[in-house]
Amino acid sequence: KLDERMPALEIPELHQLAVSFNRMASSLEGVEQRRRELISDLTHELRTPLTVIRGYLEELADGRIPASPEIYQQLTKETKRLERLVNDLQELSKAEAGYLPINLQSVNLRPLLESLVQRFADQLLEEGPVLRLECPSQLPLVEADIDRVEQVMVNLLGNAVRYTSEGSITIRVWTEASKLWIAVIDTGQGIASSDLPHVFERFFRADRSRARHSGGTGIGLAISRRLVELQGGNIQVESQLGKGSTFQFWLPLA
Ligand code: ADP
Repeated sequence: KLDERMPALEIPELHQLAVSFNRMASSLEGVEQRRRELISDLTHELRTPLTVIRGYLEELADGRIPASPEIYQQLTKETKRLERLVNDLQELSKAEAGYLPINLQSVNLRPLLESLVQRFADQLLEEGPVLRLECPSQLPLVEADIDRVEQVMVNLLGNAVRYTSEGSITIRVWTEASKLWIAVIDTGQGIASSDLPHVFERFFRADRSRARHSGGTGIGLAISRRLVELQGGNIQVESQLGKGSTFQFWLPLA
């Protein structure tokens, strides 16, 4: 770092330059720090399933455990986890580099939302939450990529289902000025206020061990945010621990 005091004695421009330089250096340090954290998180995420797979394979090879259907199920589960992680990462890196093709068109999102409700209702257990759609029957068109909207909704609904054991999951749709808002409102476990600012960050999971158990990768929301932004919109979250969460995003009306 430059010593900001020295040039200040004589030439104010030099002092200003030193201040700017130091600010830039700190910001680069931040970027480097996040890059290191990302690699360390990534290594951890990849190593966990690999360790499990390797353990089973060694025990199978030594004849310490029999080749039962359960073992193959475990091996398949961990392999799928690796696969999902790699797919998610690829999507995320494309989204962050701006390489995700976005095909904006004037679309009516209602049929998509209806089919998603059908699809997710099938996943819910009898004693689990109910899934509802609150959407005007005549929905104005939005300027969006319907496949990308589907990706975002699948992430949000997947999370709502994963983190809600009872009550309801509501998809609410409304218009406001030149925006179409879509909210996914759940009555699930909620998110602590200290965690809330981080949920859209890569690999962030409020409770790592539990989230891993539920099959999460901590990448879904980071991708969702980029996808919404690439379509010109914005996504937000509100939540109360123990009460539930609301994830809502808007897209520009056509
Ligand atoms: P994951 O694959 O782990 O769900 P996400 O990026 O989709 O990754 O979400 C990041 C974290 O945010 C989750 O691990 C969870 O802690 C929290 N989260 C996301 N959605 C919800 C929700 N509807 N209710 C409670 N917590 C949630």
